[in-house]
Amino acid sequence: MTEIKILKNILAANEGQAALNRERFARHGLLALNLIASPGAGKTSLLERTIDGLAGRCRIAVIEGDITGDHDARRIAKTGAPVVQVNTEGGCHLNAAMIGEALREFALAELDIIIIENVGNLVCPAEFDLGEAFKIVVLSVPEGDDKPAKYPLIFSEAGAVVINKVDMLAATDFDLAKAERDIRKINPHVPIFQISCRSGQGLDAWLDWLVRQQKDHAAE
Ligand code: MG
Ligand code: ZN
Repeated sequence: MTEIKILKNILAANEGQAALNRERFARHGLLALNLIASPGAGKTSLLERTIDGLAGRCRIAVIEGDITGDHDARRIAKTGAPVVQVNTEGGCHLNAAMIGEALREFALAELDIIIIENVGNLVCPAEFDLGEAFKIVVLSVPEGDDKPAKYPLIFSEAGAVVINKVDMLAATDFDLAKAERDIRKINPHVPIFQISCRSGQGLDAWLDWLVRQQKDHAAE
């Protein structure tokens, strides 16, 4: 019983900080996205492709969440986008307070989109609101098509789902129709993008959707 109470208190404190983050994003007309996936699904590759693809259209900054190290932040820095690394030192998810700290490092008035790459994990990132407009779930073909059925909470919370590495479909048993059906059972109207960060296939639809969301947020 005690443990349940502690978790409730942690989540309540997180909600307060998430509301503050959301207010800051709104004040600057910023679209904030919380990118969630298993390790190796291609979150950082999707970021690189997105930053490149929207160059000249949207100013993007990145918050990189990792247990330790700055490998992904260094990859993002090479694109020229502003990036802040957050290390959770063993923690398996980001929380809203970590994002509040990271936001101090950016000139928010000079940005259009902030993308937060969460720690690779499909479980508890679903529970922690960071103040984002949307959670974006990335599912990759080599992981298997059973992920939506096994991790329904995160798919139910998703504002969009990206199925990455579709260039590998022929080499696997991944059933695209089944994966989409299982996602729609949980989240009937969620946009689903089939892409390959390696070949560039399907990226345009994803980028156009992002630009539309950004414009809606800036206009609010
Ligand atoms: Mg990464
Ligand atoms: Zn966690």
